[in-house]
Amino acid sequence: MEKSKKSFKQERLEICKACPQGEYTWGVGLTCGKFVRPVEGVSCGCKLTWKTGLKNQECPQGRWKKIEDEKLVSKKIRPASKADKSK
Ligand code: SF4
Repeated sequence: MEKSKKSFKQERLEICKACPQGEYTWGVGLTCGKFVRPVEGVSCGCKLTWKTGLKNQECPQGRWKKIEDEKLVSKKIRPASKADKSK
């Protein structure tokens, strides 16, 4: 059974809150390291209440992973049809 958006987001946020890279930035909330100051392989600088809700995102340290969504993947690789182009 697929996890609901709320449950995967909450799980990820709990991990981030316990992570040494998790920081509270005034006016932004919980961020991964310094807000918009990514450090390769360490922190991404993202606002975590946004990032943790996106299935295609992952932790820069591998503490939580992308969520594979077959519907999303198949939409991305499906070639555009004439019907799609006319929209
Ligand atoms: S995204 Fe990863 S590195 Fe950043 S705060 Fe969350 S668990 Fe830590």
